[in-house]
Amino acid sequence: MNHSAHVSTSSTNEQQNIRKNSINHQLLEELEEQARTLEPTQGQLEELFTKVEQYARQHLANVRETPAFVKSQERSVGLLSSPISETGISLDETLQLLHDHVDHEGINSGSPRYLGYIPSGGLVHSAFGDFLAAIGGRYAGIFHSAPGAVRMENMLVRWMTDVVGYPKRAGGYLASGGSIANLSAVITAREAHGLRGADYDRAVIYMTDHTHHCVDKALRIAGMGSSICRRVPEDGHCRMSAEALEKTITADRASGLNPWLIVGSAGTTNTGTVDPLGDIASIARSNNLWFHVDGAYGAFFILCPEGREVLADMNQSNSLVLDPHKTLFLPFGTGALLVRDQEFLGPAHGGRGAYMLDMDSDAHELSPAYLSPELTKHFRGLRMWLPLKLLGVAPFRAALSEKIHLARYAYGQLQSIDGIQVGPYPDLSIVTYRYVPKKGDANEFNLSLAKNLHQDGRVFMTSTQIRHTIVLRMAVGSFRTHVEHIDEAMEVLCDHIRALEED
Ligand SMILES: *Cc1c(COP(=O)(O)O)cnc(C)c1O
Repeated sequence: MNHSAHVSTSSTNEQQNIRKNSINHQLLEELEEQARTLEPTQGQLEELFTKVEQYARQHLANVRETPAFVKSQERSVGLLSSPISETGISLDETLQLLHDHVDHEGINSGSPRYLGYIPSGGLVHSAFGDFLAAIGGRYAGIFHSAPGAVRMENMLVRWMTDVVGYPKRAGGYLASGGSIANLSAVITAREAHGLRGADYDRAVIYMTDHTHHCVDKALRIAGMGSSICRRVPEDGHCRMSAEALEKTITADRASGLNPWLIVGSAGTTNTGTVDPLGDIASIARSNNLWFHVDGAYGAFFILCPEGREVLADMNQSNSLVLDPHKTLFLPFGTGALLVRDQEFLGPAHGGRGAYMLDMDSDAHELSPAYLSPELTKHFRGLRMWLPLKLLGVAPFRAALSEKIHLARYAYGQLQSIDGIQVGPYPDLSIVTYRYVPKKGDANEFNLSLAKNLHQDGRVFMTSTQIRHTIVLRMAVGSFRTHVEHIDEAMEVLCDHIRALEED
């Protein structure tokens, strides 16, 4: 640093600074008085605890019975009539706004009858973990700043790598969700393969039509939109055909392209199908490709024996995404990336600023900030650690096993309904089916059926498309869903089939 220049700059400003710095006590007092309202008084704190608790209790008392879906977008508009302004409003008023305009419209993800998309979230213990994380305010990015928070996150990562069956050298981090974790995986794979911009046009990625769209998004965000994406043909059960994969890779090699990444699914979002992971892994190994598995929906099913049957080979992948906010029932905002060789995370995500000089002197643990895109991050470990500590792993295993059995039960029940055709036997907890009407177009009928089910809202199921066929899907994934809710879903479904047929 040029010391004399620095000193002379400050001396030319000296007079001005003295004038600026002559303390205006009155101003400071006024500012302090207002700033102090950021800290609740004892009375306000009591009110916050009491009324927020009341609100939460009320919500929990009703969450099982309120509709799974309220098809309305109008109630939330009311929120806008109370704009953000210079002065605050009362706690009662804010809770009323939340109640009237946010909490009673759209999907009730806490409902046991929410069987759409991938049911997510809702584990109450986690909410307390979040609360404590926010109150404690521990900075979970770097070991130096919060050794406990970082050890907690790393411990959870270790638990997941063990559950999956990755070797000791594996690592990872807690992300905000599956999309970000998949993006991070793509970038890790790209760096591990040393790909640079000039290589992208010849770089080939292998996936299927059922690979989650966030992988396409990830490639684009990673700057690899120009790379070649092969949709490997699937077998009759929507699984990637290993044979077709191998043939395509060989042909691509022969024509001078650069195959580098295979993305397999440990449970597709659409049909819950698990790709033949072991076969794909050996093709990846013999061709020196990175094998990434997207298990955002399905990977946690490895906790139960029924899931393990189809997921055991996940440990042969190079990287794996799991979504604790899906199949570990945590609140939205928790995903995870695991990498078989932790050493690959650093080159893809590392980086330091001068202001971080004090942070690395005595690190005994790796810090998430050097292994992931985030610096300042949510202390998300606490929302995962707290329920696992309080409840143990056993009820999670049981709940996941229950979800698989419920899906199989639903599969059987659906088959016994006149006119229903079921899709493949569920690998995990998603069942696809459609109704073939006595006359008229089946696709149209099923779209109307989905629409009517949404209008009804007691049970929430969604429609999707497999090739040119519209099907309905039922995804069993809420920890609150039990056999009675599947029975109710069947009744509601039959009501609407009957009504439409009579139309
Ligand atoms: C949900 C899902 C994703 C995306 O994860 P988000 O947490 O929603 O970002 C990716 N892949 C699969 C298979 C999913 O089910």
